[in-house]
Order: sequence, then structure tokens, then C-alpha cells
Amino acid sequence: MSLLSYSVWCQNSAFISRFAGQGHYHFPMSKSNVSKISVAVIGAGLSGLTCAQHLQDHGFDVTIFEKSRGKGGRMSTRRSDEGLSFDHGAQYFTVRNPIFQNHVDEWGLDGIVDVWDAQIGTLSNGTYEPKEDETLRYVGVPGMSNIGSHLAAELDVHLETLVAPPVRSEESWVITDEHDFVLDEFEYVITSVPAAQSAVLLHAAPELQRIAKSVKMTGCWAVMLSFPQSLELSFDAAFVHDSPLSWISKNNSKPGRDAKPETWILHASPEWSEVHLADDKEDVLPTLIKSFWQATGLEARQPQSQNAHRWRYALPSEPLKERCLFDPELKIGACGDWCGGPRVEGAFLSGYDVSSRMIASVQALSNTH
Ligand SMILES: Cc1cc2nc3c(=O)[nH]c(=O)nc-3n(C[C@H](O)[C@H](O)[C@H](O)COP(=O)(O)OP(=O)(O)OC[C@H]3O[C@@H](n4cnc5c(N)ncnc54)[C@H](O)[C@@H]3O)c2cc1C
Repeated sequence: MSLLSYSVWCQNSAFISRFAGQGHYHFPMSKSNVSKISVAVIGAGLSGLTCAQHLQDHGFDVTIFEKSRGKGGRMSTRRSDEGLSFDHGAQYFTVRNPIFQNHVDEWGLDGIVDVWDAQIGTLSNGTYEPKEDETLRYVGVPGMSNIGSHLAAELDVHLETLVAPPVRSEESWVITDEHDFVLDEFEYVITSVPAAQSAVLLHAAPELQRIAKSVKMTGCWAVMLSFPQSLELSFDAAFVHDSPLSWISKNNSKPGRDAKPETWILHASPEWSEVHLADDKEDVLPTLIKSFWQATGLEARQPQSQNAHRWRYALPSEPLKERCLFDPELKIGACGDWCGGPRVEGAFLSGYDVSSRMIASVQALSNTH
């Protein structure tokens, strides 16, 4: 952590200590109460990992299934064939909630996140306007995906396992993969995947499925570029106007990244991405790279490397007001950034909320017995 960020950290921690113990969810529960309760969490993005960790801390027996090869979901880092790293999903995150701040402070002390002290502004057709604000922007170090790996370190995560809709048997949920191979049976299931994918997985819980179906998520094309020489731009990142792009950032201006070559991330706007979601990456790359030169006002030059990634479900257009969905009778729930808040912080709070509701529900059941 740089000295500057460390001092910001200390100020923040002072802020936090004022909130210590004021979290809304505290369920003192002995582990023996819940040691036999098994839970399947589908998805190893931030919401699923947060939910799983909170449940495991309370003694639940948690298993996570993740379809991809890595942890972190949309908060991830892509390694190129040339060995370069790009945060091609979430760029940074901000913190408002004291419970989240507590966790972020701990991650900071563990060396997993740092403050990105970036020059950020707006950009339109070559004209840059700096944006003066006091916002603290946090990033994972040395990449966004390190947060997911850190959270998953002590969890039982099964990667490359695409889960099919869970099936209700008498007393449990049967979890199978896409080849109908039975993975195991669990007392509770939590889905932590984007809304449309949750709707599919919630097949046996029609009311929750109906709510998940009502949330639309927009896509995003992300472009990853590297240049052997610096582009000599005066800023680190910008919100782009009047362009197919909505955001550009110098990836290696973030703390803990390699200084060379210079790496850039471009995000197409939700409107442009939605129209071009079905296009091939070879078709979208030239348009978005040309837009980069137009937005920055620089003369076009050949990148050292270029690639694009399609996020089919990037951000919810209008997230639910509820932070999570949970049916205590059916013993199934759902979380994700489409519940309660559309960003990293929203995903964390959603995972925290659904696990808190499950803990409270089990506590209530054990009190009646
Ligand atoms: C391009 C882009 C830019 C963004 N920028 C920012 C930003 O700057 N700041 C910010 O705060 N937020 C940003 N976000 C949003 C942020 O990344 C998300 O809000 C957050 O990461 C969502 O976490 P999640 O756990 O809800 O979902 P996800 O991260 O999507 O996790 C869901 C996981 O479930 C897995 N999965 C799906 N279906 C199945 C299945 N059937 N079986 C097993 N696994 C399955 C997926 O592979 C994935 O790993 C951005 C997102 C994108 C895409």
C-alpha cells in the first residue's frame, strides 16, 4: 500500500470505528446449531463468496459451484496470451455502507485492496475536463480478481461446474450439472448469478423466479489494448460522452500493476453494447478502437495487442428494491447486484443480506424446537 493510500486508510478506519458494532445483522449462534446444515451456493462472484463466507463463519457446511475457471465473476482480471493483466469487468468500487467498509478495511490490511488515486474526468471529442471529487476508489491488488481468490481461500469451491436448475426432493435440493450428473443434495440453495440466469435456476420456486425474471440486465463490450510507448495522456481514466464508448481507463495506473507496457480498458456504452451484443469481437474491435482515438483526440496508432470481451449481463437497468430473495419454507434464496444495488458494494450487501436471513431463519427454527 502506498503511503498516501495508507493515510487515507487510517482516516477511514477511524471513521469505521465509530460504526463498530452497529451492523444490523448480528446473530450469536453456536456452530453446533448449524453444523449439519448443508448449503449449495451457485456462483463464485462477490455476492456468492460473501454469502458463503458469512454462512461458513456461522458453522454452516457450504459448497460453492462456479461455471467458469476462476473466482470473482464480473470483478475479475483477464490475463492475455502475452501475459498482460486487464481488469476487464469492474474497474473500481466505492464504499458507503459501514459493514462493507469494515470488510474493505480488513482486505486493505491483508494487502488485497488499495486506493486508486487516479486522475479521472470526462472526455468528449478530444476535450478532457477533470472531475474534482473526494470519492475514494478502491481496487483489488495486483488485480481485481485477487479479492475473489482471497475470499475463496478457505471455502469449498468447485470450478468449471455449470449447475442445472436445482430439483426439490422431499427434504432437500438435488444439485446436478448440465450433463444431469448429480453433484450432491443440500438442505438450502442460494443462487448468486445474474438475474436472467437466476430465473432459470429458480425454476422450482415460481414466485422468486417471477421476480428474478422482471429484472433486465444490459450487456457491455470491453476492449483490452496495450502499447509499447506511453500515450502521454494527462489523465488515468475518463467517462466518455458523445461516443460508442462510455469509459476508458489506463489499467496500469492502478496500484500494484506492471508499469509497462501501457494497458488500456475501453467499455462500450450500454446502448451501443446492446445493439452489438451478437456481433463478433473482430467486428466490434475496429469501431471501438477508432472511437478511442476520436474521444482522446490522439492520432491513431497500432496497439501492441488488442482483444475484446462480451459481458452479456453487465449491469441491471433497474435493480430490485429488496436486497435479496429468500423463501424460508422452500429453503432457497437468491442474491446478486440485481437485488438492492447495481455495483460491487450492492453485490456484497446482497450476499451478506441473504446469508443473514438464512441464519436468522435457522435460529428461529432452532428456538421453536
Ligand atoms: C464491464 C463491467 C464494468 C463494471 N464496472 C464496475 C465498476 O467500476 N464499479 C462497480 O462497483 N461495479 C462495476 N461493475 C459491476 C460489478 O462487477 C458487479 O456488480 C458485481 O461484480 C456483481 O457480482 P455478483 O456476485 O452479483 O455477480 P457475478 O460477479 O456475475 O457472479 C456470478 C457468478 O455466477 C457464475 N454462474 C452463472 N451461472 C452459473 C451456473 N449455472 N452455475 C455455476 N455458476 C454460474 C458466473 O460465472 C459468475 O462467476 C461492472 C461490471 C461489468 C461487467
